[in-house]
Amino acid sequence: MVRQLIQKCKICGAYSYNLVCPECGGNSQAAAPLKWTPEDPQAHRRRKMNEVESEKWNDTLPSLSEEE
Ligand SMILES: [Zn+2]
Repeated sequence: MVRQLIQKCKICGAYSYNLVCPECGGNSQAAAPLKWTPEDPQAHRRRKMNEVESEKWNDTLPSLSEEE
């Protein structure tokens, strides 16, 4: 799924909503990176959505393998 609607062609620089440029047929990518802030004002919602406080959340965390 495309997180950002506006795409910019990597070849001709045209803006569009499509992953394939309507001007030249080249690949398009997101025009700007997603907005990000270290304060993360939605953090409490994100933790609730991922059920961080439940026991089963621990099992979803990555861990080093036995050899490492
Ligand atoms: Zn293009």
